[in-house]
Amino acid sequence: MSAGIVQAAYIVAAVLFIMSLAGLSKQETARKGNYFGIAGMAIALIATIFGPESQGTVWIILAMIIGGAIGIFYAKKVEMTEMPELVAMLHSFVGMAAVLVGFNTFLHHQPLEGALLNIHLVEVFLGVFIGAVTFTGSLVAFAKLRGLVSTSALQLPHRHKLNLVALIVSALLLVWFVKAEGSMAALILVTLIAFAFGYHLVASIGGADMPVVVSMLNSYSGWAAAAAGFMLANDLLIVTGALVGSSGAILSYIMCKAMNRSFVSVIAGGFGSDGVASSDDEEYGEHRETTAEEVAELLKDAKSVIITPGYGMAVAQAQYPVHEITDKLRAQGVEVRFGIHPVAGRLPGHMNVLLAEAKVPYDIVLEMDEINDDFPKTDVVLVIGANDTVNPAAMEDPNSPIAGMPVLEVWNASNVIVFKRSMNTGYAGVQNPLFFKENSQMLFGDAKASCLSILEHL
Ligand code: NDP
Repeated sequence: MSAGIVQAAYIVAAVLFIMSLAGLSKQETARKGNYFGIAGMAIALIATIFGPESQGTVWIILAMIIGGAIGIFYAKKVEMTEMPELVAMLHSFVGMAAVLVGFNTFLHHQPLEGALLNIHLVEVFLGVFIGAVTFTGSLVAFAKLRGLVSTSALQLPHRHKLNLVALIVSALLLVWFVKAEGSMAALILVTLIAFAFGYHLVASIGGADMPVVVSMLNSYSGWAAAAAGFMLANDLLIVTGALVGSSGAILSYIMCKAMNRSFVSVIAGGFGSDGVASSDDEEYGEHRETTAEEVAELLKDAKSVIITPGYGMAVAQAQYPVHEITDKLRAQGVEVRFGIHPVAGRLPGHMNVLLAEAKVPYDIVLEMDEINDDFPKTDVVLVIGANDTVNPAAMEDPNSPIAGMPVLEVWNASNVIVFKRSMNTGYAGVQNPLFFKENSQMLFGDAKASCLSILEHL
């Protein structure tokens, strides 16, 4: 394939990636967006593998078959609830790839001189740095999301100063690296510092801020890919990396806004959380329990119902019976809507995906801001496996780790039914005063089993 055709193919692929992002920004067009992305990536791969600069095509194809087989195996096996972990793991691969490309291009590059050599060295140094931060940061995120390590924030003494020192030393190493026209010792040193920096950065972020971390690492992995693109002089990789990097940054900003957090404070690792006491041990009084039969009766008498799903709905795979309940109630003239918190579940858009999977109509699925004012006019709210996202402590307790985060104000409705298995806390590890309010009742059990039981009585 000639260089001209490869460039043309790259332009087509880049346009398809942009169309893919545009498509993925809305539920209705997300499927189309996915197809654009797949087509763009297929064109990019064919053009790169069969392009004039590629060598060892047989090895590349062999590696793709092995990697593809592993990828298909895991994609088929992974549960929807494990998606964030998978995404974190994939980000770590991108980070490691950038580190390896950096070392490789440092060891084998065409003879360069003067400004060109300096630019090349800076590209290598930054590529390795960003890649190494992404690698360990993503591994820590994976471990936190999988529950392999504690989700609470690591609070080393002088942690901000440690971060600052790491950055200053890295900047000095960059100067040495360029002045020495490339020094392996400097490159290895900065890699080690960046590994430690990435680890510390994510370990210092508490469980409640994990949504921002996931999207932030998404952004980092994009910049790592763009850095690899510079090192390999591959325009498409630069464009694609920049698209992922900037869309990840926009998503992080949206998540920060949704959680009422400052972006800088989250990245810097728990700024503002110093000395904050968790309200875990507070006594809130007694909770009341109910049964599926009683909930069915309550629903039959209701005029308006709002369902607020959370992570537990994903665990229980309750979206299908939830849809059936919705259909039954709507057929009886009850107004049923869904209220979706921006960080419900474990992945941006997690609940929207589950509800779309169960074919719940889009027009009754509303964002938190669109529905929050309607709770006082609502007869029954079904809180299905949600906890942190409906926790009034975020608004009422300034010492709570989730203080300031906007939440679904479900307690303003006449009746609140909470579907969960126990009185355990949610992801942020904070007790929820909602469960003890006078208008709240707990329906204990697996959310799917509870929904099926309600269906029987409806
Ligand atoms: P939470 O994680 O706060 O709570 C989920 C609740 O579901 C638990 O209290 C649990 O209680 C219940 N549950 C679990 N399994 C079942 C089951 N089979 N049947 C019934 N209930 C079940 O969920 P939310 O969605 O409200 O909040 C999301 C949290 O995750 C936030 O803290 C957010 O910051 C964080 N997060 C979000 C990410 C995102 O991008 N959306 C990424 C990373 C973290 P019990 O054990 O008693 O059943």
